[in-house]
Amino acid sequence: MVYESTRNNDVKLNSAQAIIKGISSDGGLFVPSELPVITDDELHSMLPLAYSECAEIVFKKFLTDFTDDEIHSCVKAAYGKNFDMPEIAKTVPVDNMNILELWHGPTSAFKDMALQILPHLMTTSMTKTSNEKEIIILTATSGDTGKAALEGFADVPGIRIAVFYPESGVSEIQKLQMTTQEGENVLVCAVKGNFDDCQTAVKDIFTDESIVKKLSQKGKAFSSANSINLGRLIPQVVYYVTGYLDMVKNGTITLGEKINICVPTGNFGNILAAYYAKEMGIPVNKLICASNKNNILTDFINTGVYDKNRGFYTTMSPSMDILISSNLERLIHRLYDNNSKEIVALYKSLAENGKYSVENVVRAKLQKDFTAGYCDDDDTKKQIKETFEKTRYLLDTHTAVAVKVYKDYQNKSGDTTPTLIASTANPYKFSTSILSAFGKSSDNDFAAAKALNEITGVPIPENITALRQKAVRFSDVMPPAKLKEYVSEKLGN
Ligand SMILES: *Cc1c(COP(=O)(O)O)cnc(C)c1O
Repeated sequence: MVYESTRNNDVKLNSAQAIIKGISSDGGLFVPSELPVITDDELHSMLPLAYSECAEIVFKKFLTDFTDDEIHSCVKAAYGKNFDMPEIAKTVPVDNMNILELWHGPTSAFKDMALQILPHLMTTSMTKTSNEKEIIILTATSGDTGKAALEGFADVPGIRIAVFYPESGVSEIQKLQMTTQEGENVLVCAVKGNFDDCQTAVKDIFTDESIVKKLSQKGKAFSSANSINLGRLIPQVVYYVTGYLDMVKNGTITLGEKINICVPTGNFGNILAAYYAKEMGIPVNKLICASNKNNILTDFINTGVYDKNRGFYTTMSPSMDILISSNLERLIHRLYDNNSKEIVALYKSLAENGKYSVENVVRAKLQKDFTAGYCDDDDTKKQIKETFEKTRYLLDTHTAVAVKVYKDYQNKSGDTTPTLIASTANPYKFSTSILSAFGKSSDNDFAAAKALNEITGVPIPENITALRQKAVRFSDVMPPAKLKEYVSEKLGN
């Protein structure tokens, strides 16, 4: 399996090299030249298997430069007692939908599904390429990636990790999860700005030749724990395979029957993994891309024009408050038949004019696989309340956006294909917002969690309760323009 840069077809790496590099020096993302295939027979044989066994099958298709033993030990170390149930991910039928719960890992967000294994993939990759003595992970986060990455990489030998989050763009619990992180090799810093400012500043550091050179002379290199890293994307394909199998096992579909998949989307990583699963052979009809009021992807999928010259909104689904969805580049690259020249032109236009538009044939391909919708905070709240009152199931704010967008789609299209909804966070990560859906307010997330628990009876995850006892270790706040200096100073030596 060969991985190439979306911006230069001549850059070709194996998976270990791509995982270590994180992003290509030309600014492109690494993509498989061709996607592997899962046959119907294979899918059938996976029915009785555990999550970790399915994961091994999928990983072997992508990580062809890893030995079976290496894959086995990475998977074993990642998907075990660190999750709060043996199934790892589980599919719950709710109100004619199948909710795929992806938040049973140590930080209660779907990011754990990939970030519990990425450190193992990375240290294994380091033993294969053996150029670097130390990897420095730089991570921009809209809230959930940061904590999940810190949790995964804390005290991993040979790795240091720095996390940057938008100062006022995360929930109180998300912030505490990060600023109380333990470990000798971790650094957490708030950025004055929004997630896009964080992501752009971090990408800038990655591709800064002088810093990169200075580090490499000391045997160090940057990498990324963001969903631009291939090592994030591949693990996310696994749960769309097991989610499909869950729907067979619970009798919603028979094997071979198509499903829709609806994903609450920000950086386009999670839904891209669903697209990869479809392209690999999982029977999928439509991929439904759900956004909040930051509806740039809705517009793009409907019109073929990606235009970030628009207002940025802070919403109650903060992990989706994004205007530059990095992983979209991987999709566009594939829709342009892996033509990197087209991608270079489009992303030059995005950098210079804040927009690009794709050709009509590409838009037609896009619309064949994807449909999109969005909803605002009021509708999100209504959906949380309505679903709870009808089914006693408590949605988090992000998953509620997906449910609302799915229901709108179903009403409009009349499409009755059974649907899998990716549920991306435990509701208690956003307690104050969710409490407001029940018409109550609170001035802090912990009081809100308690009140929410009293109303719904849904248990509060252990890791969130434990936060109150922990000491805050990090309080730096930096403007985006100062991040380069900050990183050189803190991590350069
Ligand atoms: C990260 C995140 C998303 C968005 O996922 P992308 O892969 O960035 O599209 C949605 N919901 C939650 C809770 C998240 O943490």
